[in-house]
Amino acid sequence: MTCPVCRGNDFTELGEKNNFPLVLCRGCTQRFVHPMPSAQVIDDYYAKYWINTKNIRNGDKKIRKLKSILAPVLRRAPGKTFLDIGCNTGFGVEAARRLGHEATGIDLSAEAIEIAERLYPRNTFIAGTAQDFAQRGRQYDAVLCREVIEHMPEVHSFVAALKTLMKVGGVLWLTTPDAGHFRVPKDFPSWKEVIPPEHVSFFNIDSLRRLLGEYGIEILHKTLLWKPSLRVLARRVS
Ligand SMILES: [Zn+2]
Repeated sequence: MTCPVCRGNDFTELGEKNNFPLVLCRGCTQRFVHPMPSAQVIDDYYAKYWINTKNIRNGDKKIRKLKSILAPVLRRAPGKTFLDIGCNTGFGVEAARRLGHEATGIDLSAEAIEIAERLYPRNTFIAGTAQDFAQRGRQYDAVLCREVIEHMPEVHSFVAALKTLMKVGGVLWLTTPDAGHFRVPKDFPSWKEVIPPEHVSFFNIDSLRRLLGEYGIEILHKTLLWKPSLRVLARRVS
């Protein structure tokens, strides 16, 4: 099996976590679970995936916080349509609606989507994958993708779908743990973000730029953080 980002096959072993071996790709510096868990293992895991009820209780606080994060992103969008990929119970979608956007959210969890529809009925919510949703042919001015890509065993089909869902000129706000951050432990498997099969792919700014760039999505800005988290603003340029 090759590197999920650069498709190379020259790896350094990093040890293991939860019985999943981890490697570093020498070609592109991506770290990942190798071999990737099967689709069955991932599906079984997500069938039991929890919904954070504490987040539901703190909905208004979450929406206020997301509004402040999204406002500068949405100001750079060419129009007023918004999509949250991995929307969970809908806070990001509702935040975008309150900022004047026509907002849609998708999530793998039908249970999360049901809750989102009940809590924030003025938006559109759909259960399913980005890959399936992209086939409907709609494109958005702004896309939010928070803490999603580290869950994906197959990032190329995901980013291809992301591109299809973005208008040319559309903006993306993407977050994921930052494996290249100076505060990530030298003993990589001991990092708290390394939780396979939930998190299976660990990006740094270079591997993320490389992957998005292959699909015409250019990183415009990376937020400097004390926390090992990658938060980027990007634009579909081609
Ligand atoms: Zn690689």
